[in-house]
Amino acid sequence: MNRAIFLDRDGTINEDVGYFCTPDKLKFIPGAIEAIKMLQNDFLIFIVTNQSGIGMNTFTEKEFLQFNDFFEALLKHEGIIVTKVYYCPHTKKEGCICHKPKPYFLRQAEREHGIDLKNSYVIGDHPHDIEMAHEVGAGSVYLLTGHGTKHKHELALLPQPDFISNNIYEAATWIMKIRKTEKQEVGKNG
Ligand SMILES: [Mg+2]
Ligand SMILES: [Zn+2]
Repeated sequence: MNRAIFLDRDGTINEDVGYFCTPDKLKFIPGAIEAIKMLQNDFLIFIVTNQSGIGMNTFTEKEFLQFNDFFEALLKHEGIIVTKVYYCPHTKKEGCICHKPKPYFLRQAEREHGIDLKNSYVIGDHPHDIEMAHEVGAGSVYLLTGHGTKHKHELALLPQPDFISNNIYEAATWIMKIRKTEKQEVGKNG
């Protein structure tokens, strides 16, 4: 069984500048690359993103996929392998099966990549990322980057994240510290 990190994209890895799918609007959040590199030492990396811009005709699915290829290539150049990018192309009101907080893509990763969801984490800047993690018993980190600060009050009505973090780098450091402790425990117990 593999452990995984399910990263939101906008507001988590890159600045959330509204619906976009062109390279000129891509700006990585400081420390994001280093954070993902740290995490991939112990976890498979996935991206789970709602891309309602497709459903709203702000951009086409083809344009999204072209941008995504560019995005993944940039990460690969930095030494980061994203196992899979899962995206929901629908708007919330379409009532699809895959829009976060629905855990559809987490279940898909579980089947397709043998993911141990209970020992995996979701990292995101929206309460729906935390809700999705909770649905499958995964750990979660809520970020104050992107829309995080704006939506933080909504967390009061939801299951709590395991950690509230200033940014993805701090989140990765926190998760890796837990992993280190877990490994030491395993070592002690033989
Ligand atoms: Mg986001
Ligand atoms: Zn969907």
